[in-house]
Amino acid sequence: MMPEFLGSSEHLDVAYFSMEFGLEPAMPTYSGGLGILAGDTIRAAADIKLSMVGVSLLHREGYFRQHLDSTGNQTETNAEWAPEQFLQLLPTRVLINLGGHQIQIQAWRYLVHGHSGHDVPVFFLDTAVPENPEWEQSLTGQLYRNDSKYRLSQEAVLGLGGVAMLRALGYRKIHSYHMNEGHSALVTLALTEERMWGHNLSAASEEDKEAVRQCCVFTTHTPIAAGHDEFPVPLVREVLGGERTDYLLTTGGCRNNALNMSNLAVDFSRYVNGVSMRHEAVSKCMYCNRSIDNNHCYINGTTVLRDDVTPCKYSEHPIDAITNGVHANTWTSSAMSKVYDRYIPEWRRDNHYLRYAVGIPLDVIWKAHQSAKQELFDEIKRRTGVILDPEVMTIGFARRATGYKRTDLIFADLERLRQIAKQAGRFQVVCGGKAHPNDGSGKELIRNIFKAGAELKDIIPVVYLEEYDMALAKYVCSGVDLWLNTPLKPLEASGTSGMKTALNGIPSLSILDGWWTEGHVESVTGWSIDDGWREQSNREEEIASLYNKLEKVILPMYYKAPTDYIAVMRYAIALNGPHFNAQRMVMQYLQNAYRHPINA
Ligand SMILES: *Cc1c(COP(=O)(O)O)cnc(C)c1O
Repeated sequence: MMPEFLGSSEHLDVAYFSMEFGLEPAMPTYSGGLGILAGDTIRAAADIKLSMVGVSLLHREGYFRQHLDSTGNQTETNAEWAPEQFLQLLPTRVLINLGGHQIQIQAWRYLVHGHSGHDVPVFFLDTAVPENPEWEQSLTGQLYRNDSKYRLSQEAVLGLGGVAMLRALGYRKIHSYHMNEGHSALVTLALTEERMWGHNLSAASEEDKEAVRQCCVFTTHTPIAAGHDEFPVPLVREVLGGERTDYLLTTGGCRNNALNMSNLAVDFSRYVNGVSMRHEAVSKCMYCNRSIDNNHCYINGTTVLRDDVTPCKYSEHPIDAITNGVHANTWTSSAMSKVYDRYIPEWRRDNHYLRYAVGIPLDVIWKAHQSAKQELFDEIKRRTGVILDPEVMTIGFARRATGYKRTDLIFADLERLRQIAKQAGRFQVVCGGKAHPNDGSGKELIRNIFKAGAELKDIIPVVYLEEYDMALAKYVCSGVDLWLNTPLKPLEASGTSGMKTALNGIPSLSILDGWWTEGHVESVTGWSIDDGWREQSNREEEIASLYNKLEKVILPMYYKAPTDYIAVMRYAIALNGPHFNAQRMVMQYLQNAYRHPINA
């Protein structure tokens, strides 16, 4: 029997597992892009009335609060929050066996309301019940702690506990288990255990494995090795026990005496995708057994130089691409939303209609943008006391501060920047982003930006905003005039901030990597930094290109040919808005992954 409080059927299209979810700014249950994407996915699924549930961990201590001193040194404190203010505690409990103990898990429910009145629940698993031993109670406390045993145990709670909780809540027939990144790969183990109920896992046949595979979908999100959890087999044995470990050793998840969660997920999924066309090609190499290192593959008995430009025909894992999208209703400023409501009334229900933004008068777009810009500047003044001039061209960038994102690239040559500001037109910079507490190079990026800001302060105002979160992202991604993105190729799987800004009529100036290789039309939707996406990053060339475009193209257009600039803004909306949104993304998952898996 279904518990009454759910009000849903036991048939469900999709259970979407993610270690983080960005649902509300005041719920610190996410660290960055991955969680925001999970939240946008659920919001769009609710819009299109998809029967889906989300599963995650509670993260009672949140991610962390960021504190920056006057030189940009970051320190952190816990981001404690009160789940009962946002979530409903359910009476159901389940048990899983972990590290030789039975652990009790309860769940909290959050409901995401879609535009058309359909709700999608997200269940946050919680081990902080008095019956559990102290350490086990802490397991659903912190997001991404640097402690392998803690992390593996968390992933066991998510995968094993998540499936058990869905069953206890009455969800028996689930068409697709969608693993958003490798953290939830133990879902596949839970499904195998369920199938083998009463038998030792060693009895699992190829047919049993195939049955699990037919239920699972996996999305991989980064070509960075540190983004793929790997646990030494002795630790796996300690946490998951002997029977499960012996079984995992027989799967493609274990290599070189370690359990790799992404490989486990790939091995047990009927459909696997990367998050942009470019990322598809990069991922095919990443998961390929023939890959030797970053540059070489072993094919037909010889070592060959890798060409990760064209998707490789030798790769044994079919990997598809579904490019990310952002939830338009969430990320469009209220000023711009009012314009769309007036000219394209159906846009919230169906984002395809944003195509018709091409007919909105330029002065209407400019006025709405000025209003969003003023809102950002008011918020900056409120938070920092800094007063920015709305007449000045404003460049924005804000994302997790980590090495490959190279957020300090624009500050490579301060003399040149001064000269550009004097000769081509004034500009100012608004930026933000947290570094993971253990990420030294990410913290250094923040200090570099502070240092550059101090040196430029007489001519180019630079504001670094503390505590970048969903609320601040909405201000920044709707209020600046140009979005700058300078990651190291080919490491940007997708990137989503430039999609948020496009919905607000803000063009990008970006390295051709991730989504921008698809969204970029030169001088129409924005500008590229350097011109090829095939080549490796060349730092000197990229810096020169960035400065040249700012000096010769973008600043002159902004100040001397404003209607041309606003036309670019309008094309950013009309060409990229209808496509790089989460409704289109979820429809593609439905078509290619959930309903008609093309790789199956
Ligand atoms: C959108 C968003 C991100 C992700 O930005 P990317 O461009 O995908 O790196 C990170 N943090 C917050 C708060 C966001 O809103």
